[in-house]
Amino acid sequence: MSPAIQTDVDLAPLTTLGVPAHAAYYCAAGSEDEIRSALAWARTRDLQVLVLGGGSNMVFVSDFAGLVLQPMLRGRSLIGETDAHYLVRVGAGERWHDTVEWTLAQGWPGLENLALIPGNVGAAPIQNIGAYGLELTDRFHSLEAFDRNTGEVQTLDRAACRFGYRDSVFKHPGGRNLIVLAVVFALPKTWAPMTGYRDLTEELGARSIATPSPRDIFDAVIAVRQRKLPDPAVVGNVGSFFKNPVVDAATHSSLQARHPKLVSYPQADGRYKLAAGWLIDQAGWKGRALGPARVHAAQALVLTNPGDARGADIVALARAIQHDVQAQFNVTLDPEPIVVGASGEQ
Ligand SMILES: Cc1cc2nc3c(=O)[nH]c(=O)nc-3n(C[C@H](O)[C@H](O)[C@H](O)COP(=O)(O)OP(=O)(O)OC[C@H]3O[C@@H](n4cnc5c(N)ncnc54)[C@H](O)[C@@H]3O)c2cc1C
Repeated sequence: MSPAIQTDVDLAPLTTLGVPAHAAYYCAAGSEDEIRSALAWARTRDLQVLVLGGGSNMVFVSDFAGLVLQPMLRGRSLIGETDAHYLVRVGAGERWHDTVEWTLAQGWPGLENLALIPGNVGAAPIQNIGAYGLELTDRFHSLEAFDRNTGEVQTLDRAACRFGYRDSVFKHPGGRNLIVLAVVFALPKTWAPMTGYRDLTEELGARSIATPSPRDIFDAVIAVRQRKLPDPAVVGNVGSFFKNPVVDAATHSSLQARHPKLVSYPQADGRYKLAAGWLIDQAGWKGRALGPARVHAAQALVLTNPGDARGADIVALARAIQHDVQAQFNVTLDPEPIVVGASGEQ
């Protein structure tokens, strides 16, 4: 059956940043067949197609002249077990946070550190979402994806997804043509808490919890996030606007010599991850505005749309921050969200 194609659709309510933008055409596809038909419909009209999940990692700088396709495939189920893992399959259109909560309710913990991340399950592999010491790749088994070039459905295991820090094959040529239909998680049968992150340890300490359950961690993560991050329902944002830059050991020691309070985290490969929020704060941007766009006062990594900002205002603020951090630290900040212009992703 052909899915309904809507025209001139307001994208602001479909994104967490809420900047003004319209899609010439929009389709919510609830099945693989509907995705196939919508793509065929766009092909006959020579239209570009942009895949949209929950819109929590997208900045629209202008209207989109093609078809915005939102995969809304539903369903969550246990599809198998190994000695060590429960294998749980979730449709791309399920909300991420609801899925985390659902797995806990089923007695299959393992995703609790990733609570309250906005967006849909289908987008989680795209940037290998991560928070509080856990990344999607740590709980990933495989995914099913529709290949726009061949029309075939492929199964990709962890190696094929080439996960990295906020990165995967889906952000690169060879992977950009894939639309995620469902993700299979491998959730550990022997669960151990991951409480290495300072904010999380402190929150559990404040609650006098020495031996946390998965639900304790879920609740603590939510409390920390609600304190530090603006609620997109109240103030438009896309979470962290920049990745934490990773530098080699020599660069790190020369930066530390010049900036003894530099905040950084050693990586397994000998490099160092710098806290981008600290760099932005030091560059004087925390809480500051440029035009109608503003840096969040409690977390300098988050750029906000207090109400009247356009995508171009957010991008101008991001560029000003990049410029100042580069000038002060000689460190390049790479944006995390996808910036979408008139003709597609940039
Ligand atoms: C308040 C806030 C906090 C956040 N915290 C975190 C955090 O802690 N950690 C973190 O990693 N991220 C975080 N984010 C960023 C964001 O929530 C994640 O990147 C999330 O996975 C994006 O999901 P989405 O469904 O909204 O994707 P969208 O923003 O709609 O899309 C993101 C990208 O994925 C592609 N895409 C979407 N669905 C599919 C699909 N089915 N198949 C193929 N491609 C697809 C899109 O084309 C686009 O390139 C935060 C964002 C906000 C607003």
